[in-house]
Amino acid sequence: MSPHIPDLKNVGVAQFWHHYSANAVLAQLNTSAHQGLSRSEVVHRLAQFGDNALTKTKRKSLLKIWIEQFQSPLIYILVIAAIITFLLREWVDAIVISSVVLVNALIGFIQEAKATRAMEALSRSMPSQATVIRQAEKQKVAATELVPGDIVLLQSGDKVPADLRLLTSQSLQINESALTGESVPVEKQPIETLLEQTLLGDRINMAYSSTFVTFGTGRGIVVATGDQTEIGQIGQLMASVQEQQTNLTRQIGQLSQFLLKLILLLAALNFAVGLLRGSDMKHMFEATISLMVGMIPEGLPAIVTVALAIGVSRMADRHAVIRKLPAVETLGSVTVICSDKTGTLTQNEMTVQAIFAGGDRFQVSGGGYVPEGKFYQADQPIHPEHHPALMECLRAGALCNDSRLIRGDLSWQAEGDPTELALLTSAAKAGLEARELEATYPRLGDIPFESHYQYMATLHHHDSQPSAVVYLKGSMEQLLPRCQQAYSSNGQPMPLDRFQIEQNARAMATEGLRVLAIARLDLAADTIDHDTVSTGLTFLGLQAMMDPPRPEAIEAIRVCKAAGIDVKMITGDHIDTAIAIGKQIGLISTAAESEQPIALNSPDIEALSQEDLVPLVDQIPVFARVTPKQKLRLVEALQYRGHIAAMTGDGSNDAPALQQADIGVAMGITGTEVAKEAADMVLTDDNFATIEAAVEEGRSVFDNISKAVIWTLPTNLGEGLIILVATFLGVVLPITPLQILWINTVTAVLLGSTLIMEPKEPGLMQRSPRPPRSPLLSKLTIRRIFIAGSLLAAFTFTTFDIALHQGQSIPAARAIAVNTLVGGKIAILLGCRSLKYSLSELGFFSNLWVLGGIGVAIALQLLLTYAPFMNFIFETAPVASASWLLILIGMVILYSLVELDKWLRRKHASR
Ligand code: ADP
Ligand code: MG
Repeated sequence: MSPHIPDLKNVGVAQFWHHYSANAVLAQLNTSAHQGLSRSEVVHRLAQFGDNALTKTKRKSLLKIWIEQFQSPLIYILVIAAIITFLLREWVDAIVISSVVLVNALIGFIQEAKATRAMEALSRSMPSQATVIRQAEKQKVAATELVPGDIVLLQSGDKVPADLRLLTSQSLQINESALTGESVPVEKQPIETLLEQTLLGDRINMAYSSTFVTFGTGRGIVVATGDQTEIGQIGQLMASVQEQQTNLTRQIGQLSQFLLKLILLLAALNFAVGLLRGSDMKHMFEATISLMVGMIPEGLPAIVTVALAIGVSRMADRHAVIRKLPAVETLGSVTVICSDKTGTLTQNEMTVQAIFAGGDRFQVSGGGYVPEGKFYQADQPIHPEHHPALMECLRAGALCNDSRLIRGDLSWQAEGDPTELALLTSAAKAGLEARELEATYPRLGDIPFESHYQYMATLHHHDSQPSAVVYLKGSMEQLLPRCQQAYSSNGQPMPLDRFQIEQNARAMATEGLRVLAIARLDLAADTIDHDTVSTGLTFLGLQAMMDPPRPEAIEAIRVCKAAGIDVKMITGDHIDTAIAIGKQIGLISTAAESEQPIALNSPDIEALSQEDLVPLVDQIPVFARVTPKQKLRLVEALQYRGHIAAMTGDGSNDAPALQQADIGVAMGITGTEVAKEAADMVLTDDNFATIEAAVEEGRSVFDNISKAVIWTLPTNLGEGLIILVATFLGVVLPITPLQILWINTVTAVLLGSTLIMEPKEPGLMQRSPRPPRSPLLSKLTIRRIFIAGSLLAAFTFTTFDIALHQGQSIPAARAIAVNTLVGGKIAILLGCRSLKYSLSELGFFSNLWVLGGIGVAIALQLLLTYAPFMNFIFETAPVASASWLLILIGMVILYSLVELDKWLRRKHASR
C-alpha cells in the first residue's frame, strides 16, 4: 500500500478546511485520529513540505543599522561642520571631521550589529514544542518538525503550532489576537462543517498557528505548516526583539537634546564674542566648530546600547533570557520579588512520604522516582496489598495521572509533572504498574489539571456496577467538600470524618509536605466535566509528598535581603506547607514568633478589599492557594506601595500578572508558551537564584552606564571650556579644532567605552535598590561634572602657558596641551571605574580593557607628538621631556581630587 501523499497544491489552499467534515480531512491527508502518522511518513512529508517555520521576513538590515548611526542631532552638527569646512576649502579639517563621523559611525555600527545579532540569537534559542500522536504514541516534538497530517494535542497554555482542523475539544478556548486582533478568546468546537465563506474569526472548528490556548483541551489534525499557515500567509511575523526605548535610553535622548541646545547657545555666544573682540571671521568659524565638536558626547548613545546588550548576554550566561530590553535596566531597581514555590524555590523532585487512607497513616521509604521502597505503619513494615484502602488510594493516584515512568537500561526515566511522578512512584512501590492498570481500566475522558481548579479527574472503564469510575486528585480544599463518604480500611463505604482528615492533612503540611487529596466517583457516563464531579465523591485518602528546598534559593534569598529586596512566596499550595517551606528557606524567621500574621490564605485575600490589602502586602512574606487573579491584585498592591515588582508565573492564567509586573518572569521548563510570551524574562532553569543573579547583572549594567556618562560629560565640558575661555580672554587657542577632533575620536572609543566592561563592584548586593525613576544625573553629579570639567580646562591652560613661557613653540605647546587633556581624561577614567571605591579597593588590574585602552591611547599620543607626519597633519611638534613630568603631576592631582571626593562622600554617608 503506497501512502497517498497529499498534494501540495491542495494543502496550500488552506482556506476551506473548515468546510469539510473531520473524516474528509483525515482521508484527504491520509492519517488516522488515533494512530497519527508513522515515523517514515513524517520524514517523507518533512522533505516534501519543509520545516514548520515562517520564512524570516523582517530582520533589521545592516543598512538600516548603518543609517541609524547618523541619526543623532549630535552627529548632524558634525556633518554640518564638515560641509562648512569643505566649503571653506579647509581640506584637512573637512577630511578629519568627516573621518571622525565615519569612524564613529563604524564603531557604533559594529557594536550595534553585534548586539542586534546576539539578541536575535537569544530569541531564537527558545524553540516551542508540540504534543503529537505518532505511531499511536503521545510524544513531544519540536514545533518546527510538524507536517500536514500530524495529530496535535492542545491544552491550556499552548501556542497552537500549526493550522489545525479540530477533531475533538473540551471547553477549548483560543485567543486569536495574533491573527485577528480580537483579544477575547474564541470558543472552539469541532463541528462537522461550516459555510465555505465563513470568516477566519468565525471558523470555530479550526485552530490557527501562533494563537494561544487559554482554556480547555483539544485535538486537531495539521492542515498547513510554515508559510502555508494563515499567519504565514499574512506574513505578520511578530517581531522577535522589538526595538524598545528604555527609561535610560529615553533619558540619554533627553540629555542629548538638552546638550544640543546648550552647545548651540554657547557656540553662538563664542562666535559673537570672538567677532566683537576683533578676531577674524574664519578663525572664529574654526574655533566655534571645534567648540561644538569638542562638547558633543557623540559616543554616548552607542555606549548605552552596547552596555544593555552586554547585560543581556551576561544574563543569558546565568540562565535568564531577556525578552524585552527595558527589563535589563528595570531589573537593577527591583525592590520586591514574588516567586512561586514549587520548582522555583524548591527542587520540584517530589517523593511521597506519608499516606493517609482508610483512617490509617502510613509511611513510605525511598527517594526520587525509583520505585523501590517499603510501606510502614507506626514504624512497622507492612504489606500494602493487605490494606485495600491504601491500594485504592495508590491506584487512583497512578490512574489519574499523565506522567510516565520508563524503565531504562540503567535507570528509571521520568517524564511529566513531578507531582504526578511521585504518585506513580508510590503506586509502583506497592507493585501497581501504571501500564497494567491502564490496560485494565482504560481511560475514557479527563479533566486536565489547571491551577485555577486545583484538581484533575479521569474517567475509566471499570468492571464495577455502573461500569465507569472517575478518579480525582487535587487540593484538600477543592475535593473534601465534594466528598460524601469515605473508604474504610477494608474497602467498604463509611461515613466521612472531615475533622480527622483535616487534622491529618494539617499535620502533614506542617512538616512541609505537599498534600494531595484523592477521591473517586462511580458514574454511568462516557464523558465528564466540572459539573459531573461536583458532588457525591468517595474520599480515598491523602498522599503527602516532600519537595526539598533548593539550597541555592536559600542563599539567593539571603542575598536579596542584604540588597534591600523583599522576597515573597506566592504559591498555589496549602498554607501550612507554604509556611513550613518558608521557614526552611529563611523567608520566615523561625526565631521571632511575633504577633504579625506571616501568611495569607486565598480566602483571606478574597475577603480583603484592595484598600485593606495594600498596607498588609508589605509585611507578609507568604501567600497560599493564590489564584492567578489574586496574583494580579498582589502585584498591583505592591506597585501601589511604590515597589518595583518582579513576579514569576507559569500558567496561561498568569499572563495578566506577568504583564502587570515591572518584571514578569516566566519559567522556561515548566512554563506555558502564553506565560513566556507575556514575560519580560524567561528562566531557562526555573530557579529562583537566577532571578537574583539577573538583578545583580541589572545593577551592574546601570552602574557601568552611569560611570561612562560621568566620565564623558566633564571631559566634553573641559574641551568646550578651553575654547570658550580662550575666545573670551582673546588669547591663542591652546588646542586647535583639528586636535580636538583627534582627542574626541581617540578617547571616546579607547577610554570611555571600556568602562562598560567594568566587573561587578564589591558590595553591589549590599546596597539598597536604586530609587525607581530617579534622574540620570543628580544635582551632586552635575556639580562634580562642572568641577572636573573646569579643572581639566584649567590644567590644560596652565601647561600650555608654562610651555610658552619656557619658550617652546606654539605647535609644541599645543602638543603639551593635547597631552594634558588626554592625560587628564585618563586620570578621571581611573577615578570613574567606581563611583564609590578607590582603585586599590577595586584592584588595579581588575578591568584589563581600561588598561589596554589607556595603553593604546598613550601610544597614539606619542605618535601625535613625535611622528613627523602627525606633526604635519595636526600641527604639533615634539615636546621638551620635562613637560611630561608636568603633565604627570597634573594627572596625579586630578586623580587625587576625584578620590578625595569619593572618600569625603563615603565618610559623609557613613555618618
Ligand atoms: P504551586 O506550583 O505554587 O505549588 P499549583 O498551582 O501547581 O501550585 O498547585 C496548587 C495545588 O493544586 C497543589 O497544592 C495541589 O493540591 C494541586 N495540584 C498540583 N498539581 C496537581 C496535579 N497534577 N493534579 C492534581 N492536583 C494538582
Ligand atoms: Mg505548580
